[in-house]
Amino acid sequence: MASPSLVWLRDDLRLADNPALRAAIDRGEPLVVLFVLDEESPGIRPLGGAARWWLHHSLASLDDALRELGATLTLRRGPAERIVRETVADSSATAVFWNRRYGGAEREVDTALKAALRADGHEVTSFQASLLHEPWTVKTGGGTHFSVFTPFWRACLSLPTPRAPFPAPRSLAGVSQPPASDDLVDWDLLPTRPDWAGGLRDAWEPGEPAARTRLRTFLHDDIGSYDRARDEPSAGATSLLSPRLRWGELSPFTVWHAAVEADGAAGFLSELGWREFAWHTTFHAPDIATKNLRRQYDAFPWPRLKPSELEAWQRGDTGIPLVDAGMRELWRTGFMHNRVRMVTASFLVKNLLIDWRRGEEWFWDTLVDADGASNPFNWQWVAGSGADAAPYFRVFNPELQAKKFDPHGLYISEWASDAPTEPIVDLAATRKAALAAYEVVKRSSPVSG
Ligand code: FAD
Repeated sequence: MASPSLVWLRDDLRLADNPALRAAIDRGEPLVVLFVLDEESPGIRPLGGAARWWLHHSLASLDDALRELGATLTLRRGPAERIVRETVADSSATAVFWNRRYGGAEREVDTALKAALRADGHEVTSFQASLLHEPWTVKTGGGTHFSVFTPFWRACLSLPTPRAPFPAPRSLAGVSQPPASDDLVDWDLLPTRPDWAGGLRDAWEPGEPAARTRLRTFLHDDIGSYDRARDEPSAGATSLLSPRLRWGELSPFTVWHAAVEADGAAGFLSELGWREFAWHTTFHAPDIATKNLRRQYDAFPWPRLKPSELEAWQRGDTGIPLVDAGMRELWRTGFMHNRVRMVTASFLVKNLLIDWRRGEEWFWDTLVDADGASNPFNWQWVAGSGADAAPYFRVFNPELQAKKFDPHGLYISEWASDAPTEPIVDLAATRKAALAAYEVVKRSSPVSG
């Protein structure tokens, strides 16, 4: 009698370069392919609205691809440890495969599950798939992890070249009677009342086939001008691969090897390096979304929150054109250009003096690429409390940033032509107040950087 292999997919919604899937295929037994919507395990962060939208469509695309090759996708909802064990039992699977995750709560789930399954006599194997380098393999000479990007990336580049990606399978042997599956529609991942996702639908096509097309187009059309134009939000010069990498529709190995020979690749690949750095930092500091990495910042004297100012920022009604353009792009499309993310984040933290965690939560809810490492890591970078962070006293001036990176106002007129023109705060005065608050932290305990 066949003893099926179960592949548990998580942030790796792809068929190509998927080591867990390949190992299961190589075992030669019929496959059960499982995805669990886990909103119940302790510490697992519930997905934001835009991420749920992406997940729905990416799962639908994956289901189509699996069916074409001869397998199906089993969808189940609940605490992952219980659900995976139940599905293993229901399907009489004897071997279980997954690709590793690096968030603290996720690792706890996976470790406990691995132990439980092995105790029940199952074979369980996990693989490196979503990072080019495992977080425990990149170390300083002193054996600690890096807290500064440049030496971190130099160390990564001195390691053996990331392995080559492998192609998608041509056919799959699914089990003849797949375990019971939820209906994707019943998960209510899509907004209905109201349906605010029109802009997302216009901007994106989730799923592995569209991700591969996007990678090809970027490499063909844009990578040559990436270094020169990547900071201009209206130039369309960046890859737009972040949600693809977030959901694992593409592996970083695929992106690395596709790009590495191109002219101008080094700058682009170092951005993949920032993604690695964010995840390595998170691996070592799993509470990055809630706790300052530099604990001195715990003394920062945040004034009482003014909800109207937070709302004006969220809606793109601050009267600061570049900030409003970015926040409106985000609301409409689930995405914002990196330079503008830095400017809008700096404005929230350093001109409105609102705790970076409130901004991080809003981005978490509204970004299609909302990522458990990159989002809090970058917020802390802007706030000054993070790894290799911009020092607190470096306050972006959004007007100068607009002159420099949107000199013809193309981005602002695309997104904020009807935004208010009266600023809700005075940039110079709020900058001074921020620096004074920073002095308090400095006096209470010296802050390096
Ligand atoms: P490209 O310029 O084409 O870069 C290629 C890839 O490198 C990206 O797809 C992404 O995977 C990675 N990358 C680039 N810059 C960074 C960075 N600074 N940190 C980590 N990875 C990077 N990125 C996310 O993927 N998810 C987030 O939740 C997220 N939140 C952010 C919050 C703030 C406040 C800031 C300032 C940045 C945030 N970023 C986040 C990083 C960056 O803005 C996006 O990765 C980038 O804008 C995505 O566009 P792209 O794919 O065209 O990037």
